[in-house]
Amino acid sequence: PVIIEARDVVKAYGPTQALRGISVGMGEGEIVAVTGPSGCGKSTLLHILAGILSPDAGAVRYQGRRVDEWSESQRSAMRRTDFGVLFQFGQLVMELSAAENVALPLLLGGVRRRRAAATALEWLDRLGVAELADRLPGEMSGGQQQRVALARALVTEPKILFADEPTGALDTLASEAVLQHMVQAAHTQRTTVVLVTHDATVAAYADREIRLRDGAVEAADFALLGAGTAL
Ligand code: ADP
Ligand code: ADP
Repeated sequence: PVIIEARDVVKAYGPTQALRGISVGMGEGEIVAVTGPSGCGKSTLLHILAGILSPDAGAVRYQGRRVDEWSESQRSAMRRTDFGVLFQFGQLVMELSAAENVALPLLLGGVRRRRAAATALEWLDRLGVAELADRLPGEMSGGQQQRVALARALVTEPKILFADEPTGALDTLASEAVLQHMVQAAHTQRTTVVLVTHDATVAAYADREIRLRDGAVEAADFALLGAGTAL
């Protein structure tokens, strides 16, 4: 079943047409790479699907609901409970340890301190960075920081993880480690992943690819969505 979809979505920044009536959908538990050259609209699409940006026209449905019609506060509440985000870099709070960073979304969601700390440690362990629990981001490599950021994005067990060039600042080895952990954690939790990348080696980690060009879908493989899906 489709968990999130954009239909006929249009978005312009002044005279720049970023998305020209785009229709895409992601299935539950699917890892979908959104690819294409720089400036083709990948980030804009991700921000619209995640409810961070509003489309000029078209519809965004999450679990069948027209979330693009919701208020900003409704959408931000939904993002907190249902979505996780992972960006290129600079997302950890520099004054907090790895464990505190990962516990933060739980504390903001009302989870008690002791429980949040224990869950944060479990996630750091799952992502192979348990030994970094007490370290500040400034004391970690870029790849280690991204694994901690991934733990923080997944700790609330989101339905969808939105990842925008999550390995764009990492070398090949660190990049592989982050992507392998992302794929494994996502499949284990049945988390849908929307993975924006311009890099074919990154896209290869996805189950399926949607290629954009100039604000439109150039090519998409709908095989995994099944025949009943009208997109
Ligand atoms: P990609 O992620 O594929 O690089 P983007 O979605 O970032 O593409 O950008 C699509 C187009 O919209 C590009 O031409 C870009 O310059 C433009 N754009 C993106 N964000 C803004 C913005 N905030 N203001 C003006 N133009 C923007
Ligand atoms: P990415 O492609 O990784 O999203 P960008 O450099 O395209 O990175 O965009 C970084 C930020 O700058 C985004 O918030 C985007 O909306 C904004 N942006 C991108 N292109 C433009 C533009 N032409 N004018 C103004 N802001 C832009």
